[in-house]
Amino acid sequence: MAPQILTVLGSTGSIGVSTLDVVARHPERFRIHALTGATQLEKLHDQCLAFSPRYVVVLAEPAAETLRARLRASGSETEVLCGEAALERVASDPAVTTVMAAIVGAAGMRPTLAAARAGKRVLLANKETLVLAGRLFMDEATRCGATLLPIDSEHNAIFQVLPRAYREAPYAGTLCAAGVKRILLTASGGPFRQRPLATLADVTPEEAVRHPNWSMGRKISVDSASMMNKGLEVIEARWLFNADVDDIAVVVHPQSIVHSMVEYVDGSVLAQLGAPDMRIPITYGLAYPERAESGAASLDLFSVGRLDFEAPDLARFPCLRLAFEALRAGGAATAVLNAANEVAVAAFLDRRLGYTGIPALIDAVLAECEGQTCAESLDALMDADALARERADAWLGARR
Ligand code: NAD
Ligand code: MG
Repeated sequence: MAPQILTVLGSTGSIGVSTLDVVARHPERFRIHALTGATQLEKLHDQCLAFSPRYVVVLAEPAAETLRARLRASGSETEVLCGEAALERVASDPAVTTVMAAIVGAAGMRPTLAAARAGKRVLLANKETLVLAGRLFMDEATRCGATLLPIDSEHNAIFQVLPRAYREAPYAGTLCAAGVKRILLTASGGPFRQRPLATLADVTPEEAVRHPNWSMGRKISVDSASMMNKGLEVIEARWLFNADVDDIAVVVHPQSIVHSMVEYVDGSVLAQLGAPDMRIPITYGLAYPERAESGAASLDLFSVGRLDFEAPDLARFPCLRLAFEALRAGGAATAVLNAANEVAVAAFLDRRLGYTGIPALIDAVLAECEGQTCAESLDALMDADALARERADAWLGARR
């Protein structure tokens, strides 16, 4: 079989590094065409030496110049490009078969969309693309014949246990016609599931990024602590699987062993289990429809011992409630939610906003933007994103 030719968008991040770890295990199956990263030039340099990509993309010219000099000194022939247009170019390059979309945040949307429009096999880790522009992205992916493989562990689990015909063409049918009653999206509950409510205001960035089960980038770690991550994932599932919001139930499962489930009309519930290691869903996406070695440890059920499940607490996790509300409101509300959340999380990590200020800011921005946005085009969605960021900055400024 001809090897897959990959662009890894966000190769220096947590998902990017895990992707390259899997790629290195199967040199006969995968070749790297392009790598991209915003910062961490030394890491990009080392990745270029290890994988010899044709291109590496950074955000701005000064960084490109530095990396160019470093690579030249190391004897590398990788060409250094920079800027957003270059990200889109390496995501849609005719030489590429497969794109790992692992940039964090709304910044990942345009290159991910470019990959879908070029009909690539898109390994979708960047959930913000679907939160910002779910309908448009799914329409374009379908129209252009892209293959979408969800990498988010929950969505990867759901994909694995859905009927194959449905998961490969969800918009050609309905969940109901596929015999599915509902999707059970599991959530760990993060580090603050049991923390006394009165102390949540004192949560520090260090505490918030310390996830009990998963090692991830900083933004998604904060999202997991607030459960905004689960809210974003409900929206992601709505678009990926052509599901209605009422078809999706969140189930808190603190061990992160069951990665999600699908309940069928006959009462059967199918689940995918595994160690909490992102190389499992990444390898599934890379090798699909085959299976390949991921490097993940075998699941030791005896040491796991028990699996617990509980209902989510919306009073403790107002971000999850806000995400459900935005999804029900429709239009560009989820784009506003996503942008406000990105500003809030960055401010929290910067110690400009307290932990409980995150939902307060998002709530205020959603209310302020209500009736002022629409979702009919990519430009309209980008306007909604920009308006929400502007309002979020103003909200933060007013509290300084
Ligand atoms: P990360 O912060 O570790 O890495 C992000 C990557 O994006 C880096 O390579 C960074 O250089 C790049 N980047 C950041 N800002 C950029 C910008 N403005 N333009 C271009 N590139 C930029 O993040 P991560 O944890 O690897 O997550 C990546 C995506 O995958 C996120 O959307 C996240 O929600 C999703 N995801 C991650 C995990 C996980 O376990 N880490 C699980 C499920 C989904
Ligand atoms: Mg997830």
